[in-house]
Amino acid sequence: MNHDNQPQNKLKVISYNQEQNKIVEFEQKLITFADVGGLEDVKKKIKIDFIMPIQSPEIFKAYGKAIGGGLLFYGPPGCGKTFLARAIAGEINARFLHLDLQSILSKWSGEAEQNLHEFFEDARQKKPCVLFIDELDALGGNRQKLHSHHERLLVNQLLMELDGSTSNNEGIYVIGATNTPWYLDPALRRPGRFNSLLFLPPPALEERKTILTLKTSGKPQQELQLDLVAKYTEHFSGADLEYLVKDAVDLAIARSFETGTVQPLTNQDLLNAMEKRQPTTLEWFATAKSYAKFSDVNQEYKDVLDYFYKNNLKQG
Ligand code: ADP
Repeated sequence: MNHDNQPQNKLKVISYNQEQNKIVEFEQKLITFADVGGLEDVKKKIKIDFIMPIQSPEIFKAYGKAIGGGLLFYGPPGCGKTFLARAIAGEINARFLHLDLQSILSKWSGEAEQNLHEFFEDARQKKPCVLFIDELDALGGNRQKLHSHHERLLVNQLLMELDGSTSNNEGIYVIGATNTPWYLDPALRRPGRFNSLLFLPPPALEERKTILTLKTSGKPQQELQLDLVAKYTEHFSGADLEYLVKDAVDLAIARSFETGTVQPLTNQDLLNAMEKRQPTTLEWFATAKSYAKFSDVNQEYKDVLDYFYKNNLKQG
């Protein structure tokens, strides 16, 4: 990997900015798997199936195993799809290219295919890079069987870019994400494209504790009982936990302003913040369950049902 590519502790990000209607390049804090709380099985699978082949291609080749094909993350919002993709870029020291299909569809109408092509061309100049394609389901697919001609053209363009038949995609590691994989255009799921489907569930008890530890670390604090907070935040997403900690920190900051000295974050701050938040993942499960139960011909969404039953979620 190209280690001169990035400044230390910074991740180079390229993404489409909707307000400015253009592609922008900026830096973000570099994160790795150590910053992602929990998801140990998912991280392990990604290491073996995705990162190891990049780092040691000769081993895969020796066994005649094909390299390539993208990962596809799915699950409720806020459970780390984007965060994990960024961490993968951090792990392999690659740039992070973020393509949000929902925003390009609304803004690039008319010239979307050309713009998509240019985005990929840009990626080809900036290798190695992780190309993260968010909201993949925005591309019609099964959502409305009669999706528009315009979307069809864009799907075709995306397939052409992914297949790299006319250009070299080596060094571009594609990761897709969707909250609703059952709406995806089936053509996107063929071998060599987004063939590896990974479910990112809400964090379990120990994972919530880890995420709370990560999000409170480095802040002035009294001895916190994070296991207690973790216990009462069932079904919270990683993002919900992050906001909970932010709200609690705001309370400690307000107290600091009142007293004129830095006041530590307390358990009470966390409990007060917790009372104001509800888990945002339940709505997703209510919809997901019917797909997982009734439309899952290939048994792809078994993980969703397993989560449902294991966590005693009510009938959706
Ligand atoms: P989405 O699944 O909707 O793409 P994100 O990856 O954008 O969710 O997550 C939103 C935020 O929540 C992240 O920026 C991160 O700070 C936090 N987060 C989510 N999951 C985790 C996790 N497993 N560990 C640490 N932080 C997390």
